[in-house]
Amino acid sequence: MFCAGDAVHKHPPSHGLGSNTSIQDSYNLAWKLAAVLRGQAGEELLESSSVERAPVAKQVVTRANDSGREYKPIFDALGVTNAVADEEFTEKLKLRKENSPGGAARRGALRAALDNKDHEFNAQGTEIGQFYDSGAVIRDGGIRPEQADDPMLHHHKSTYPGLRLPHAWLGDRDHKFSTHDIAKGTQFTLFTGITGQRWTEVAVRVGARLGIELVSVVIGEGLEVQDLYGDWFRQREVDEDGVILVRPDKHKG
Ligand SMILES: Cc1cc2nc3c(=O)[nH]c(=O)nc-3n(C[C@H](O)[C@H](O)[C@H](O)COP(=O)(O)OP(=O)(O)OC[C@H]3O[C@@H](n4cnc5c(N)ncnc54)[C@H](O)[C@@H]3O)c2cc1C
Repeated sequence: MFCAGDAVHKHPPSHGLGSNTSIQDSYNLAWKLAAVLRGQAGEELLESSSVERAPVAKQVVTRANDSGREYKPIFDALGVTNAVADEEFTEKLKLRKENSPGGAARRGALRAALDNKDHEFNAQGTEIGQFYDSGAVIRDGGIRPEQADDPMLHHHKSTYPGLRLPHAWLGDRDHKFSTHDIAKGTQFTLFTGITGQRWTEVAVRVGARLGIELVSVVIGEGLEVQDLYGDWFRQREVDEDGVILVRPDKHKG
């Protein structure tokens, strides 16, 4: 039996990530179930779902509860914390618009309280910085890049195994598409560069041996997939002949 969504991590409305997190649970589990049912993987692959998802859900729910509590300073700044009746509420809100020292003080306090909501409304790290650490991720011996700023607030793109595939614009002279468009949810994907073309042969052999769809994408000048703006070059964190393996759920495998 597998559990997903609010049944195992109940979200308050604050932060607006409850459905997102619940859907991610299923996204994480679906390709694993498919692989096991098709005989492409052993049942132990399924064990990785809770291992990967539980820490993410815990982090999001904790943050969402903190975000809920951070509304009080806003009500305090507006002066309506103890207002009961609608009329009282409306009356107290008027001071915010007044041309008076009291009005200016209220506007300043409100601005400070709203700035503190960055952790709810501008928190890309919480939203897309999920990291999976399980047997369904192949460690390559490298060290995860350190993040100097707040990892809940800022999302640092990285190809370190277990992290989400970074978005980068790729294409040719007529088309533009994302790394996420190419790494389709129905396949494993290998990204490499021109001097890494031998990975294509490896992908064909390994895919045939394991009975899985393993698609290699060679990115480079003169090819079907080009690094239009150097986005991939800046983000790939491996040499041109290195390789990035992406799972069907678009996390680095
Ligand atoms: C006011 C509010 C605003 C929100 N805003 C956002 C937002 O902006 N973004 C966001 O991502 N998330 C938001 N969320 C959170 C989001 O709604 C939940 O996290 C999400 O709906 C959880 O999905 P779920 O499928 O796990 O559970 P649910 O949506 O709760 O679905 C469970 C279903 O199971 C049914 N059920 C229960 N018991 C049984 C039973 N015994 N037999 C059969 N059926 C049963 C229920 O009727 C229900 O239909 C918000 C939540 C609230 C309350």
